[in-house]
Amino acid sequence: MLELSTPIKFVKRVGERVAVELAKRSVETVEDLLYHLPFRYEDRLNPVPMSALRAGTMASVIGEVRGSILLQTRHMPLFEVTVGQGLNTVKAMWFRGTYLRDKFHVGQMVALYGKLEPSRSSGGKFKMIQPQFEILPGHGGPDAEFSMLEVGRIVPVYESLGGTTAWGAKLGSKWLRRVIWSLFEELGVEEKADSSPRSTTLRVRNDKQKSGQPREQSKEPERGHEVDTETLPWALRERLKLPGRLEALKAVHFPEAGTPMPELMAAATPGHRRLIFEELFYLELGLELKRRRMREREGTAFATSVKVREAIKQVLPFHPTAAQKRVLGEIANDMRRPQPMRRLLQGDVGSGKTIVAMQAALVAIENGYQAALMAPTEILATQHYLSARKLLGDVLSPRTGRPYRVTLLTGSLDDATKREARGRIFRGETDLVIGTHALIEDKVDFDKLGLVIVDEQHRFGVQQRFRLMKKPGALDPDVLVMTATPIPRTLALTLYGDLDASVIDELPPGRTPIVTRRTTEERAADVWGFVRKQVEVGRQAYIVYPVIEGARDDQPELDFPPDEEVEDLDAAAGKKTADPSTAPSTRFTRSGSGRDDRALKGRKKAKDKAVKTEKLFEPKKALRAAADMYEELRMGPLAGLRVGLLHGRLSADDKEVTMRRFQRGDIDVLIATTVIEVGVDVANASVMVIEHAERFGLAQMHQLRGRVGRGAAKSYCILMTGGKVSEQAEARLDAMVRTQNGFELAELDLQQRGPGEFFGTRQAGLPEFRVANLIRDRAVLELAKAEAAKFAESPDPAVSREERDAVWARLKQQWQRKYGLVEA
Ligand code: ADP
Ligand code: MG
Repeated sequence: MLELSTPIKFVKRVGERVAVELAKRSVETVEDLLYHLPFRYEDRLNPVPMSALRAGTMASVIGEVRGSILLQTRHMPLFEVTVGQGLNTVKAMWFRGTYLRDKFHVGQMVALYGKLEPSRSSGGKFKMIQPQFEILPGHGGPDAEFSMLEVGRIVPVYESLGGTTAWGAKLGSKWLRRVIWSLFEELGVEEKADSSPRSTTLRVRNDKQKSGQPREQSKEPERGHEVDTETLPWALRERLKLPGRLEALKAVHFPEAGTPMPELMAAATPGHRRLIFEELFYLELGLELKRRRMREREGTAFATSVKVREAIKQVLPFHPTAAQKRVLGEIANDMRRPQPMRRLLQGDVGSGKTIVAMQAALVAIENGYQAALMAPTEILATQHYLSARKLLGDVLSPRTGRPYRVTLLTGSLDDATKREARGRIFRGETDLVIGTHALIEDKVDFDKLGLVIVDEQHRFGVQQRFRLMKKPGALDPDVLVMTATPIPRTLALTLYGDLDASVIDELPPGRTPIVTRRTTEERAADVWGFVRKQVEVGRQAYIVYPVIEGARDDQPELDFPPDEEVEDLDAAAGKKTADPSTAPSTRFTRSGSGRDDRALKGRKKAKDKAVKTEKLFEPKKALRAAADMYEELRMGPLAGLRVGLLHGRLSADDKEVTMRRFQRGDIDVLIATTVIEVGVDVANASVMVIEHAERFGLAQMHQLRGRVGRGAAKSYCILMTGGKVSEQAEARLDAMVRTQNGFELAELDLQQRGPGEFFGTRQAGLPEFRVANLIRDRAVLELAKAEAAKFAESPDPAVSREERDAVWARLKQQWQRKYGLVEA
């Protein structure tokens, strides 16, 4: 008898060979396969008649093959099939479709899914380019046994698992339907013969009780087998009206007739909700537990005496804003407590997080501890180092009566300097250490580390954050993580669910809104003219490019994949939409380690293919690149100005020199890549020009724009586009012009990219979901969070001891496997 934990190779139709393929997709057990959910459904019980189709929509069409033809176009062979329904026909075409020639025969019934486009050719109102298709089983064919899975019902459509069976069948929808259907049969989940259409009640066969132990008479009849497979306490399910687990899975894979299609497509059926809740409940329960454990840990209780406060005040270069004061108060409160602080500090670009961080550092230092500030880039670390030196350089610590000692430690320092810095850190000869990833290298030992500050947290993985927290020492250091990426609440709940949050929601006084304009490459001369004018009145400017040099396509400085090509391909290949609002796509939220590789590979493949297709039609247009434009502008439009170049491939020294010169005002115009994206702070800079703005992600553009408008001068952000602007890029540019509210932009960014991509390609440790989608399922997330807190807080008397233990056991197993976040 199958169980959920049975290795997949023992499943009918799978076997050793296919199991190897599935393992690559992290499908190892029966349960894994059952959680490979359909990403959309086709209503083949009540299909939309062809006469009711509308152009421009994604549609699923069922019809009869009327004829097919292989055309030779100038570029490639084109295979065309005419599918008809009464007098109406739709043409389906596939580029390079030679291999399809023998698949279609007149008279077959087929199901097509793709975008309907108006057809200009005679006959047929619509065409579909590269639709997905399925040839439906005919009467009495070899597949007759399964015809009930393909026609006359709501049919699940799955993302292919890749690979093929021993006899060459693809592990696609057809195969999955059969295997999963048989799985349910073997698991003993059957549909009630007399079930009314809307009922999702299933009879659970209970013929095989495990271990012979008499089960405790349950409050609910028919729980039987469920006890082995259920993961949520019965009382909780009752209260929230959630169906049982297997029942939910069955209903999601094979919806009963009458299940509303919109609910299915929105993953909003009771079955979907149940699975989503389950997943988020366990996530939130784990986070809740972490928070509770942290409160039990021992940390340093810093004093915030009058003397300490005086020390902080004497370094303040300006009056803090009300928000800065409030946030510092929250931080100081945490630091006073004997538990380690775990706090997230959110604040839009330019809101003044750095000074708050410095103040927190002083609290630790004045208590005789060391503080460490970790920044994601060398430039930023160096800049923090310089401003810390400026801030603290000449003041004496009231505690020791001597100046504060600040040390820089980054990877690119020469070995001797690094060794020397590590020595000072170890011997306690430095108070504040500022650096990059180099700080979390094993070789760095602190004397008495009291506070860790992580700047621009989203650029680090969660694992890195934990590593710095766990630097050896008697006590856990306090940790403050700062981010300028406004994190939508749902993501914050998940990614930083174990942290308390503070928000600086106010900009320092005297800032004027940044004027943001769009223009195109053709008007570049005007833009350069404007830059010259600004320089004439004493201001400085940035000009940012997506790539460093040449027409290279590897975009080392850009962590946002250009979406045009992928979109082109989607259209050309009739791929399923990635639109979360119409498809309950599970791939949308996948972002964990293993699966992410897959997603990336997939995208890369898609891109390679797209590039090829594109080349056939138009030569690839070269991107303007920083190094090339540096030469061009310096010699031409910006001749006579002092122009500098900054990008990631320069040595650390060169970067630092250039940055310092720009900071001092010795450079008028800095031509750069996105290395300047985070944190760079030059108040006199008033112009930010972004070329190829269509290539940049929203978060990036917002960050870049945040480099100007830091002083009192009126500032400008000019978004220049050069090349095709996709629909998505259009939306991004519009949003940039419309608003400067980081949270608003972040929401759109999240919608466009999905949580995995939201933080850039570097994984931020976002958990991988099988069912849930953080954007779509916000409401369920909030519910799950509340329920998890309740569950951890006080035992519901209606939940049996056995059930509670089962929940904790499952949490442990799942949390380790899926999120890997659990600390020892
Ligand atoms: P971010 O939050 O993006 O890291 P910074 O800490 O770099 O912002 O601050 C942005 C700029 O605002 C800096 O030049 C900083 O000196 C200045 N600043 C910060 N707080 C204040 C304040 N209360 N009054 C005036 N200027 C401030
Ligand atoms: Mg900053």
